[in-house]
Amino acid sequence: MAANAEHDLLIESVATTEDGDHERFTHIVLEGFTPKDGDFVALGNSVVEGMINATPVTALCGKVWVPGRDPQKYPLCPTCREVAVSLGWSLPG
Ligand SMILES: [Zn+2]
Repeated sequence: MAANAEHDLLIESVATTEDGDHERFTHIVLEGFTPKDGDFVALGNSVVEGMINATPVTALCGKVWVPGRDPQKYPLCPTCREVAVSLGWSLPG
């Protein structure tokens, strides 16, 4: 979990868990943000909820999958990294 200083973004890094994946990566999921004078605004499904309820989450690169309960450490997804850098976010991990 990491928060951007300017926007207070809530982002999570989550590994794919599908057995069929040839290339496994840790993807970046934007869950929402907290405006300076307001409450947390959810933009997508929560990773923790996805693990518990088997609801899919969407990564910055567009990948949609159900996060596993025991995420492994994989290299950061290059597409997620590109998107995050282009948006000026601080990267998790
Ligand atoms: Zn990705």
